[in-house]
Amino acid sequence: MYDGVVARSLLLHVDADSFFASVVLRRRPELVHRPMAVVAHVFIASANYPARAFGVRGGMLAQEALALCGELQLIDVPREEVEQVSDQLFDIFGEDFAAVEPGSMEEAFIDSGTSDPDLAAALGQQLRARVKRELGISVSVGVGRTKLMAKLASRTAKPDGLHVISPVDEAQLRISIPIDDVWGIGGKTVEKLRLIGVIRLGDLDSRPREEVQRVCGTTMARKLWRIREGTDDAVIHSVESRTSLTTEGTISGYNRRDWNPAELMQACIARVCRRAERAGLVATGLAVALRAEGGEQVVLKHGLADASASVDAWTAALLPQLVDAPKPLVGLRVTLTGLTTPDRVQPALF
Ligand SMILES: [Mg+2]
Repeated sequence: MYDGVVARSLLLHVDADSFFASVVLRRRPELVHRPMAVVAHVFIASANYPARAFGVRGGMLAQEALALCGELQLIDVPREEVEQVSDQLFDIFGEDFAAVEPGSMEEAFIDSGTSDPDLAAALGQQLRARVKRELGISVSVGVGRTKLMAKLASRTAKPDGLHVISPVDEAQLRISIPIDDVWGIGGKTVEKLRLIGVIRLGDLDSRPREEVQRVCGTTMARKLWRIREGTDDAVIHSVESRTSLTTEGTISGYNRRDWNPAELMQACIARVCRRAERAGLVATGLAVALRAEGGEQVVLKHGLADASASVDAWTAALLPQLVDAPKPLVGLRVTLTGLTTPDRVQPALF
């Protein structure tokens, strides 16, 4: 029996395992059991598990990675393929579940729609099987009551697994988990808390609230107490409820032919429009922030009287403005704004 409290449904945190590497390995099966990594610019974007065994990690310089593992195979990010698989991944999420909040291109929080842990786990396993069958990559799934718990669960689940944090596990975690394992708490805060003897979440109980507040600020202190009490974020903000969508791209990459600015702008506009369209949304504005070598930034903006998610409409409006781009251009960020559903669009006045 519930004490008059309606149990909320459990959340899934779904996260692809070494996403970029997995996408490449679909057509390079001979590399599956050998150390390989995908490179963006001069940095490791993603390493497979055999490479990780040598200490190769995402974010590391390719040179450092090679020093750790001489036989490491480096492969350039197949940008379009990765985008395509990401879109397909989110199509599957959207078909199987009502509320999906993207975390990144290969990671999402999903409302499982059930408060039964066994059923939520079964839904997670079905999702994992479908992604593997249709896309040829593995995703790990964490099941938990809040986003933090679901995310901690998926970390335990990796690679290629599923893990449920039950109410009993959760109660224990909320006492024993080290503060620096808590997602969203910065290194400086961790260090300041350590100095007052707060190393694990449960240590918060033994410190006066004023002291915690003084050490890490009111906002952070509140956040920590919410996590300790179990009232941390458990709300899914699905794409459908967003008012803007953003994507970024760069002109050049490690070992790759340069894109020209027009190609890059078109590709980025197409990507955000596709995402809006998939969520059944149209936009009234589009902004393109252009970044030049040396840091100069120029923002191009355009509004359409008739809200649209049409790639052609937005490209036709923005492309001519590229003449104002600072040079040489290194990257750009495209944002669709004023997102709404077509039924909420006011008819254009004429
Ligand atoms: Mg991932």
